[in-house]
Amino acid sequence: MKKAIYDVLVCPACNGKLKMTKDGHHLLCSFDKLLFDINDNIPNMVIEQAKNLGTEEMEQLELR
Ligand SMILES: [Zn+2]
Repeated sequence: MKKAIYDVLVCPACNGKLKMTKDGHHLLCSFDKLLFDINDNIPNMVIEQAKNLGTEEMEQLELR
């Protein structure tokens, strides 16, 4: 996914900036600890479908 596109995406819960995981398959809101999937270069920004992360999972995530 082109960097420029995800640079403008914000978290639907807090409007905060999102970070992309190293594998390029997820966007992370570190404030809400929400992980949004990117399928076929299309981010799924539905909060209910985002994964709630625990603190440990957050620490293990490799970000770009
Ligand atoms: Zn957020």
